[in-house]
Amino acid sequence: MSDHADEAFFRHLCQHAGVALIATDVQLRIRFWNAAAGRLFGSSAEAMLGEPLISIVPADRRVIAKRLLHRTADRGEINAFEFPHRDPAGTPMFLAVSLSPIIDEAGRTAGVSVCVRDVTRRIETERALADASKMTALGSMAGAIAHHFNNLLGGLVTTADFAQTSDDPAVLTRALRSVVTSLTRAGRLTTALLAFAEGERTDSETEEVTNIVRAFIARLEPRLRQCNIRLETILTPTSARLSAKRLQTILDYLAANACEAMPGGGTLTIELTVPPESGDLVLRISDTGFGMSEADLRHAFEPFYTTKSEGTPGTAAHPGLGLAVVHGIVRSLGGNVTLCSSLGQGTVCSIRIPGNQPTG
Ligand code: ADP
Ligand code: MG
Repeated sequence: MSDHADEAFFRHLCQHAGVALIATDVQLRIRFWNAAAGRLFGSSAEAMLGEPLISIVPADRRVIAKRLLHRTADRGEINAFEFPHRDPAGTPMFLAVSLSPIIDEAGRTAGVSVCVRDVTRRIETERALADASKMTALGSMAGAIAHHFNNLLGGLVTTADFAQTSDDPAVLTRALRSVVTSLTRAGRLTTALLAFAEGERTDSETEEVTNIVRAFIARLEPRLRQCNIRLETILTPTSARLSAKRLQTILDYLAANACEAMPGGGTLTIELTVPPESGDLVLRISDTGFGMSEADLRHAFEPFYTTKSEGTPGTAAHPGLGLAVVHGIVRSLGGNVTLCSSLGQGTVCSIRIPGNQPTG
């Protein structure tokens, strides 16, 4: 084929490709607009040539689209973004745009090549899947809450029923004591659920993080000695302050998990560091316990997920809520929490919290 025939062939190929193909010059003005682009946007090539490419993007997506376009034109990067769109018949759809630089024979960027695809089906499937898994998660959470409250209510009804048939003051006192115990457990359960949802409502005074951790360790040590657990600590002094109650709750739950994973003893390590590059607070609680399976790691932060049988020390008040509560509190502080574990070796829970917390 001659050069001329070659060019005509490629022009024809691009003109009639099944996906929308657009090319711009260095000023990001449209210089090629194929038939599929015409069908998608309802405008002919004559109308679009010379227009800024950004005009095809909805106004609320232009800032990010512009930034990506310039990065492709100026730095030769390949970029992609998606946006909602209505076709000429008004049908809502989603478009995926990929941008790549057009490099001329001298190696200079001569514009941007733009490929636009209809990804409505993929986005709808992703949304349906997210909705379905959200509903499944909500369903199992509602089920677990109902289960725990039913157990408590069942006990209360039986006790009250028994008490009303007796006029023995000793029986009535025992019944009342049992009612108070059940109601206290119900209260703890709702408090834990609130902490999961909102990261602990009843806030407290802030204190220096190092002091909170030190005081916690002092309270924990006698219990560790009883359980044959050795303690190692690395505490970097910091003047950062946090709500004492929130940090204590985090430490309580994580230390409880670590101790429960070492029934025959082991080593618990508590580290507080402040990496200078970020100024964040990093808290790491490690144990040399039995570790977690892949499935446990996947589900551990879900409310009511537990591998402990009822009656295991420390889990009676709110089984399966420890890590969910820790997650809720850390999220409310703008941080993140991760678990790293290997079966038979132990577990590390790392928490990163921004050091400059808003005051008040
Ligand atoms: P609970 O301790 O009441 O079971 P959590 O939310 O605190 O609830 O933990 C959920 C699950 O994650 C536990 O049942 C356990 O299987 C696993 N887990 C959490 N921390 C550890 C740890 N340090 N070592 C081993 N398993 C752990
Ligand atoms: Mg726990």
